[in-house]
Amino acid sequence: MAKHKTHYEDCDVLVVGGGMAGTGATFEARHWGRDMKIICVEKANIDRSGAVAQGLYAINCYMGMQWGENQPEDHVRYARNDLMGMVREDLGYDMARHVDSTVHMFDEWGLPMMKNEKTGRYLREGKWQIMIHGESYKPIVAEAAKKSADKIYNRIMITHLLMDESQESRVGGAVGFNMRTGDYHVFRSKTVIVAAGGASHIFKPRAVGEGMGRTWYAPWSNGSAYALPIAVGAKMTQMENRIVLCRFKDGYGPVGAYFLHLKTYTQNANGENYEKKWYDQTKELVGEYIDHHPTPTCLRNHAFIQETIAGGGPIHMVTTEAFQDPHLETVGWENFLGMTVGQAVVWASQNIDPKYTNPELTTSEPYVMGSHATCSGAWVSGPEDLSPPEYFWGYNRMLTIDGLFGAGDTVGGSAHKFSSGSFTEGRLAAKAAVKYINDKKAEGIKVTDKQCEDFKVAIFKPLETYQVAQNEITGGTVSPSYISPIQGLQRLQRIMDEYVGGIATNYMTNGNMLKRGLELLAWLEEDLEKVGAEDLHQLMRAWELKHRALTSQCVTEHTMFREETRWPGYYYRGDHMKLDDDNWHCLTVSRRDPKTGKFSLEKVPVYHIVDENEKKKAS
Ligand SMILES: Cc1cc2nc3c(=O)[nH]c(=O)nc-3n(C[C@H](O)[C@H](O)[C@H](O)COP(=O)(O)OP(=O)(O)OC[C@H]3O[C@@H](n4cnc5c(N)ncnc54)[C@H](O)[C@@H]3O)c2cc1C
Repeated sequence: MAKHKTHYEDCDVLVVGGGMAGTGATFEARHWGRDMKIICVEKANIDRSGAVAQGLYAINCYMGMQWGENQPEDHVRYARNDLMGMVREDLGYDMARHVDSTVHMFDEWGLPMMKNEKTGRYLREGKWQIMIHGESYKPIVAEAAKKSADKIYNRIMITHLLMDESQESRVGGAVGFNMRTGDYHVFRSKTVIVAAGGASHIFKPRAVGEGMGRTWYAPWSNGSAYALPIAVGAKMTQMENRIVLCRFKDGYGPVGAYFLHLKTYTQNANGENYEKKWYDQTKELVGEYIDHHPTPTCLRNHAFIQETIAGGGPIHMVTTEAFQDPHLETVGWENFLGMTVGQAVVWASQNIDPKYTNPELTTSEPYVMGSHATCSGAWVSGPEDLSPPEYFWGYNRMLTIDGLFGAGDTVGGSAHKFSSGSFTEGRLAAKAAVKYINDKKAEGIKVTDKQCEDFKVAIFKPLETYQVAQNEITGGTVSPSYISPIQGLQRLQRIMDEYVGGIATNYMTNGNMLKRGLELLAWLEEDLEKVGAEDLHQLMRAWELKHRALTSQCVTEHTMFREETRWPGYYYRGDHMKLDDDNWHCLTVSRRDPKTGKFSLEKVPVYHIVDENEKKKAS
């Protein structure tokens, strides 16, 4: 252990993850906590980290309240509809009422925004989206965070949260290691804001082997946002609500601008509008939800998946009409250049010019996230003025651990935040964290050296394991005494894929399969004690894997608990194929006991605050 130097930092606000939510939190923490010590720790480098690393072509969440375009209530109704009723409306409303101010700051900071030449307003791509030249989106928000923080630590992966030893269920900081130097870092902090993104690569991806990094969701998003709070006993919500995306095949290029701006549409191999064909069958499963407008994303996926199973594939995006217009053709290509260059490369390699050939679409492997069109994540307190008692315990965006806050993908129940909403949620969490400190809720936190030393031993154990076990390698990487991170990852992905509703089963699972999946995950957990790392990069892979495995357990427990198919097109419970509003019009909340590792689950009411308030006003 002596070769891994230990560094200590004491601070007021510790932000874990410097993506969209983390940069928002770091920026806002300085606004409210002028004299506080604020530190942001990032696994990569905040200039190009997180899901927005490569840039974006649209800000997907902007109300346009100044022009009367949308109100926060409209956004709540939209998210509620898309999630088949299951959202935390207090959180969604709170984000929506603040998101415009965030976007206006991005504009001031120099993010190139496209303008509508006739109206002078931001150029709309759809009802909620505005178009940007967003290649430099991430460096721009990173600069705001860098100017606000006392210190930004890049290349440090946070592996564990520290807990206060003088008061139960209160956070005391976090620990991790530097992936370049191998140093051990202890951050003792009064508050921690977890903003570590979502989880890709827990389900087996379509692209395997040398193409393995080609997923829709950022391959480096490894579920730390979930594993860190789960490990210390924080409550989680809606973890069954994984997302499946319909995207351009092989490159996962975005389709939003194509549907909304270029007005392209989909058809099956015979040139038919296949969505209509599945209307009656879908109505059988979900009732009137299929008549909602816009059609919930999962139900559109459902038609795609059923059509493919029935032999109607491949499904194509009809681009050949829109691309005859030179302006739209340019927009179509530019859409990839600022965001997913790989899609343009895939088309070039497959001889696809979308002006003459309609490209194929596919449905992705599932991912877990809380900021896009699904809302898995931590169970957090809402804002004081909006939240019913079950949803409020003192500080906005605080988890069920005192002093521990979340934002962006970390927070469950509030979908459709996207980049701007995640940054906004980071701001809300930071404001509340500063208030928590000012209210003297973080006094007397005790973190002993023993706690820190124990974590140090645990963190570097995979290096020790490898050092000893490498002597027993029988060939290649085969050893009776350790498994490598990639071996463990592939085993995890197969379990999730085959038992928990991945692509292998066309997203189908059932109670028996989930039970078996949980057994296999428990054995994997045991074996992960023997994961070996030959260098610091593999050490990072080992901890990413451990975080993914814990997140997967939680996803599987939740999927088993909800005995209905709430979101056909995201996953199916074959033993409960219908949506069941009588029994399951509720949120699911879990807690893993840190001492026993056992999960307990409960139903929590879903309150439709927006229209209830309006009904009350009317009566
Ligand atoms: C493919 C794709 C396309 C999208 N398109 C759009 C779009 O067009 N418009 C839009 O508005 N939004 C879009 N989004 C959504 C948007 O990118 C996310 O909503 C947003 O980035 C979520 O913010 P976050 O901070 O929660 O996660 P991220 O921005 O991903 O940040 C998480 C950060 O945590 C770091 N991290 C992870 N684990 C650790 C750890 N253990 N220790 C330290 N650091 C850690 C990561 O490196 C990363 O920097 C898209 C997302 C994806 C994946």
